[in-house]
Amino acid sequence: MTGIVYLVGAGPGDPRLLTLRGAEVLRTADVVIHDRLAPSALLDFAPRRAEIVDAGKTPRGMGASQKEINRLMVERARAGRTVVRLKGGDPFVFGRGGEEALACAEAGVPFEVVPGVTSAIAAPALAGVPVTHRGLGSSFTVITARRAGGDDTDLARVATAADTVIVLMAAGRLHRICRTLQATGRPAGDPALAVQWAGTTRQRSVTSTLADLADRARTAGLGPPMTVVVGPVVHLAEALGTAVSDTAQRLDEALP
Ligand code: SAH
Repeated sequence: MTGIVYLVGAGPGDPRLLTLRGAEVLRTADVVIHDRLAPSALLDFAPRRAEIVDAGKTPRGMGASQKEINRLMVERARAGRTVVRLKGGDPFVFGRGGEEALACAEAGVPFEVVPGVTSAIAAPALAGVPVTHRGLGSSFTVITARRAGGDDTDLARVATAADTVIVLMAAGRLHRICRTLQATGRPAGDPALAVQWAGTTRQRSVTSTLADLADRARTAGLGPPMTVVVGPVVHLAEALGTAVSDTAQRLDEALP
């Protein structure tokens, strides 16, 4: 009998932000294939007997190739196993979850997508920035700074398409991102924020203007995983940033 593949979103970093459905399917897993950005504490949900595979991709492209991951998923499911493919954030937001779902569909392997809390929205939120706010922003766009081919066409195209621009995979390209956004219509004085490791004890962020963000982030030593948010909503980080992290700390203290 064929097994099943669950493509599960692990949320943005805090293990408690996994969905109930995610926890439920993890408890039934025979095999868990997890990414570097999926919180490792979530592996405790899996049964002890489960096979745990670290498919973690480092920023330098180490780790299992997409082809290997697809093959492993399909192979284990065909052998009758329940496979959980645990991915950071939401599986269908820049996570290649779509490719993994296609690989299952093509192989005739049953699969289910379990959406997750995406860092595109949660990372700004955890730094005190709502991606929309009455009077400050009524639309947002999410884009990656890294694309096959590596040009900035997409970034230029969305620079002014929405009030709030959210850029994923931003570390290491921050100067270029900020330059491109300014060159294509975003004001140099637009408030901008970079946050790394949101939702974890390693969370750090800097707030600045679009013109100065890259230098400020470099001085502060910020690195991946990094999300950048640009637009008037970033003004709220000053008022909400501390409140948000205080709440997180209180929640931490409340945990058994
Ligand atoms: N599917 C994921 C995104 C995968 S791309 C999601 O929905 O969240 C990986 C990028 O996500 C990173 O380069 C970074 O931009 C962002 N990211 C993931 N975890 C993050 C975190 N804890 N803090 C800030 N950004 C994060």
